[in-house]
Amino acid sequence: MYFILEIAFSSPKNYIANLIRAYGEQKQIEVDVLQTTDKIIMTFNKEDEKLETFLLGLEDILPASLFLGKGKHYFSDNKPALMPVSKSNLPVNIAPCPTCQKEMFDVSSRRYYYPFTSCNYCGSQHQFLTKYPYERLHTTMKFLVPCEACKNELNLNALRKDYPLISCIECGIGLRMLDKESEHMALNKGDYRKLFEVAGRAIASGKTLLMKTMHGYRKFFNPNNSDIKHIGLSTLLMARAEGFNTHLMMVEQEFNALLSIERPLLRVATKSDEVKALYGSSVLVKYPDDGLTMLLAKEVVTSGLDYIAYIECDGNEEADFLVDFDMPINTQKDTKVFINQDTKLFVSGERILYPTEVQSNKDRVTVAHDLACVKIDNKSIVDSLGVFDSVDTQELYVLEGEDFEGGHSNEHRFEQYKASMMSVLAEHHKVGQKAIGVHFDGSLHFLYYNGKNVIDAVPPIPFESDNLWDKISTLREGSDRLVENYQKAYPEVWERLDNLKGDMDIFEVTAITLGLEDESFEGISAEALSFLGKGGLQIDTRVKDNRFDNYAFLTSIMSYQLGDVENNFMCYSIYESFGDYIGEIVPQLCDKVGSNIVVLTGETFANQSLYGRIQRTLGQKNPLMNQNFPIGKENAVYGALYL
Ligand SMILES: [Zn+2]
Ligand SMILES: [Zn+2]
Repeated sequence: MYFILEIAFSSPKNYIANLIRAYGEQKQIEVDVLQTTDKIIMTFNKEDEKLETFLLGLEDILPASLFLGKGKHYFSDNKPALMPVSKSNLPVNIAPCPTCQKEMFDVSSRRYYYPFTSCNYCGSQHQFLTKYPYERLHTTMKFLVPCEACKNELNLNALRKDYPLISCIECGIGLRMLDKESEHMALNKGDYRKLFEVAGRAIASGKTLLMKTMHGYRKFFNPNNSDIKHIGLSTLLMARAEGFNTHLMMVEQEFNALLSIERPLLRVATKSDEVKALYGSSVLVKYPDDGLTMLLAKEVVTSGLDYIAYIECDGNEEADFLVDFDMPINTQKDTKVFINQDTKLFVSGERILYPTEVQSNKDRVTVAHDLACVKIDNKSIVDSLGVFDSVDTQELYVLEGEDFEGGHSNEHRFEQYKASMMSVLAEHHKVGQKAIGVHFDGSLHFLYYNGKNVIDAVPPIPFESDNLWDKISTLREGSDRLVENYQKAYPEVWERLDNLKGDMDIFEVTAITLGLEDESFEGISAEALSFLGKGGLQIDTRVKDNRFDNYAFLTSIMSYQLGDVENNFMCYSIYESFGDYIGEIVPQLCDKVGSNIVVLTGETFANQSLYGRIQRTLGQKNPLMNQNFPIGKENAVYGALYL
């Protein structure tokens, strides 16, 4: 008789299942750990006397994860026989696990305040990788020789068995802190602790700190006590979990995502007056995501703050203090997550999702947005271009516009929207079946996949932002009057719009029109988030042949502006109107081609009002989106395998 524990797990990532295996080894219990496409199944001997202690301990060593769901347990006479996902040994780039964190805050450990603490199942690993296969010799750590204690751990610590990046204060990476006059090198536990203490206090007292973190240089500051400009564009770093409910308005799923070991970026609505005053209606939030940021946050809390802020920058940024180290690291683009009820989408970025192993039986290398999919030892791996050596391949697929010289005789260039649509179809095993797609990434494309090729069925009308007023005033009768009125009411905006360059997208221009601080699609999205009403404002999206008309759209916004409609209501309505438009066109296309498969791709869909509206208008068609890849442009490297 077996005792079986199942936990939902919605990712092919192996680190949680592997951690459970290692923990079983450490506790010397017999446990079968099986990972399938949607769960992790642990099978124990029902009579095992260690079972109870193991299960209790498991709660302490398992991190919260974006991918973990509900658990259930039952008894069975048979072991479950299911298809396992493939096991791969790829370097992760997540926060330290509970066990490693404990070490960092345990004064008796060799890693007290050592920010590079990690194990086989957590922390900053990918940063050190120079090429595959992932072993110490292929990392920037290769010149550091592990001390005796670390060497022993390679055999004795189940969590660090043969761990390529093992290190501690004794044998690891040195840290130093500099201000305008002096430099301090941290050499022992006391120094490491002191360094973060001084850094935390400096920030609390209004100083700025430039720190090389495992995600690149970040300039940290206290947003309530500094003269930093454009605070609204910084990321809010919540230093203690208790601060979330005081300062932000979040649902449980958002809270769980922010605290997960994957530590994504998330845009959430603000709540406290002080955070509202700093960021307006919504803010991009982060919970400490690497050892350095985590230790800093600890000391910031000791100084009495709930949160600080940071901007991503380079090593030359001006600041009062600098915390630096000499080891070269590769950073990945951070990953944004979007949450709507029980749906969780990866919006954009590389971290968390890449590197990953994918299935492909083609002899093809794909390249897009500095990512590549390359076959190594018969496994197809998607990762940053820089970590791959050159390989032999039959064909090379490179994204249109990508700055990459392959010099291959069989090189193909492909369009973003085509690869994006294929990435969704491939994830949902629909390659070869007819489908309708909507690709919305600043501009809006309606696509048709005939089972072989992706066709741009209703392409967007090109938008040129120069000579804007000429285009608007001739749109329809009476438009010239609107232009006149607008010039009187908003002379400054009028002036700016009169001098735009030709290559701006419609969302940038809309944000300028509305006078938003963040002049981008993100700015409009952020503004829309604060609208709590019901909607109902109809923004004109088209004039002729049923296609989206950028100029009609802007004209409509301007006339509402003249009618004193609030910005957040307008931004909300913009997305709602897009939702209605998409909801009207897609069923027509479906009927026309006789398919009920609908695919949505593009970052613009990561918006509460648009997403909500699409669920309402297209919900019956059950539109498919990326699950294990970003819905944004970074899905192309995968989709191109299916072109
Ligand atoms: Zn760990
Ligand atoms: Zn060591």
